[in-house]
Amino acid sequence: MPFAEILGHNQNIEVLKRSLLNGKTAHSYIFEGISGSGRKKTALSLIQALFCKVIPDDSCGVCPSCRKVSGGNHPDIHIVSPLPDKRDISVDQLRDLQHDLSLRPYEAPRKTCIIDPAERMNPSSANSLLKTLEEPPGNALIILITENSGTLLTTVRSRCQLIRFAPLSVENLTELLMKNGMSHDAAALVAPMCGGSLQKAVELNNEALIAHREDVLNRVSHLNINQISTVFNTTEELSGNREVTLELLDLLLSLYRDAVHIGAGNREIVNQSVRSAIESIAAKNSFRRNLELLERIYETRRDVQRNANTKLALDNLFMAMG
Ligand SMILES: [Zn+2]
Repeated sequence: MPFAEILGHNQNIEVLKRSLLNGKTAHSYIFEGISGSGRKKTALSLIQALFCKVIPDDSCGVCPSCRKVSGGNHPDIHIVSPLPDKRDISVDQLRDLQHDLSLRPYEAPRKTCIIDPAERMNPSSANSLLKTLEEPPGNALIILITENSGTLLTTVRSRCQLIRFAPLSVENLTELLMKNGMSHDAAALVAPMCGGSLQKAVELNNEALIAHREDVLNRVSHLNINQISTVFNTTEELSGNREVTLELLDLLLSLYRDAVHIGAGNREIVNQSVRSAIESIAAKNSFRRNLELLERIYETRRDVQRNANTKLALDNLFMAMG
């Protein structure tokens, strides 16, 4: 896709466009960021722009070359990932890659490759790549995709230009989810829970899950400590395995952050679709109290992460909240 269609990462894209315009793209890049933040999309956009002859610092998106890149069948792009049943990227895969890069490009000005995720190269396969990284044959372009460049060999890092990708903002994620066909309310509910990763958002994009979240918000906003039994029933129903409990706590964090926002006189909140429930929490408790509860939810989340009993942790939290 053309750069214009990528959401966020404006600064990175500016840098890449400038290098395209000056004809000074690096030989080897590291694109570092959480998965789902747009690293691979941007890598493919860079390659598409490099190949497209219509626009000097971007791609047109419609010429035969652009269509091949976006269709995933351009013969001058080599993508290396671990084979289906393997943990690591093997030395053989990298040998194939180096052979391929040494051939003349079929139709593009240069050969290109993406290694994703680069941290899956073990030391011997990474070492076999060093010479190629330093002097790619035939002006080839190599892009390493990684969550953390610190896990790569120093000798690999020092041969590449590092570009960091921030997690996507909630606004950008919301927009992306709506582009993927989610309703505005659903997107606004899911986006804040994905830690800036579209991948996570897509995993969460499922109506049953959204309905579950709305249910949680409504229950929590109606918790009543005078009926202790309802507290325990609620935790019984809501606590599951650690993963589910952490997700629930993320949701509570998002809800109470909104309540604190409203308490501070701010109209802008994330969980628009349950605004009335949040307003009732903001009205029921003092601002200070909601801040305390927010802190309390953070603590509970930390405890659960450190293997605390999930049911017990939620019981204690909900008693405090009721
Ligand atoms: Zn084009």
